[in-house]
Amino acid sequence: MKYIDWFIAHAKKHRAIVASLEGRSDEEIVEYFDYDKMRRNEPDFCPLYAKSSKCHDMKNLNCYMCGCPHFRFDDSGIEIKDGRVVYSYCVKNLGDKFVSDSTIHHDCSNCTLPHTKKFAKDNFSLDWFEIMDSVFKK
Ligand code: SF4
Repeated sequence: MKYIDWFIAHAKKHRAIVASLEGRSDEEIVEYFDYDKMRRNEPDFCPLYAKSSKCHDMKNLNCYMCGCPHFRFDDSGIEIKDGRVVYSYCVKNLGDKFVSDSTIHHDCSNCTLPHTKKFAKDNFSLDWFEIMDSVFKK
């Protein structure tokens, strides 16, 4: 699956859930996206829920900002670096990289930043695309 396909599909699911929470406060919406609650209430939001598995081994994992606004990607390639096509990177220079002979993809597996409740509250917006857009413009 291309990054953009996942991004759009994920944004639609996110938007539908947030729409169903109309009337709740920002804080309540972020709370709703707590991993354990989401696994119970929104089993289709993430394929890992069905496996009782997490993308990051952390307590109080919050799924509101899944996708991370600091992640940049282009399925056509962003640039060529040392003879490899760079498809994604982190604007905060966190995480790691998956490097092959011809490609570089960003690896967020050791970064928990966007999955904290604080990060979700500090960057709160009702629309996931708006969240991503606003950070892109910073
Ligand atoms: S490394 Fe962390 S901050 Fe950077 S894009 Fe990945 S999850 Fe976001």
